Amino acid sequence: MKECSCIFCKIANGEIPSTTLYEDKDFRVILDLGPAARGHALLIPKEHYADLFDLDESLAARAIVTAKRVALKIKNALGATGFNLVQNNGEDAGQTVFHFHMHLIPRYPDDHAGIAWNPGKADQEDMEEIKRLVDEQ
Ligand code: AMP
Ligand code: ZN
Repeated sequence: MKECSCIFCKIANGEIPSTTLYEDKDFRVILDLGPAARGHALLIPKEHYADLFDLDESLAARAIVTAKRVALKIKNALGATGFNLVQNNGEDAGQTVFHFHMHLIPRYPDDHAGIAWNPGKADQEDMEEIKRLVDEQ
């Protein structure tokens, strides 16, 4: 473990109790204490990575496969009619715990979970500029 003071390191490694839906050598999936909807869970790697950009690539691949499998179990168990996978990186994106995690959020009719953004209006010139800037990376 790289950062022992981190709360998700402690939860993922079982030092702090949690309601665990799934666990293997790399991940723990727990119920979120502030759920957006019933069954809202968090997939947390046992190793500390601050965010997506810090995350080991092979672990990232295993994270999405594990998220898919556990999401399906949650969906079937709770009769969810939709599902959001949400993953925040950085304070400006709403990240509050700086240990990589994925939100697994089952959705139901009229659940008012409020996972949305305000669509803007795309500008063709700006889209071309964005493409040019990304291509340069
Ligand atoms: P984020 O805002 O993407 O960093 O998400 C952090 C999430 O962790 C929030 O949804 C919190 O409700 C959740 N959370 C924080 N502490 C705990 C905890 N001890 N057990 C379960 N969920 C937690
Ligand atoms: Zn951590």
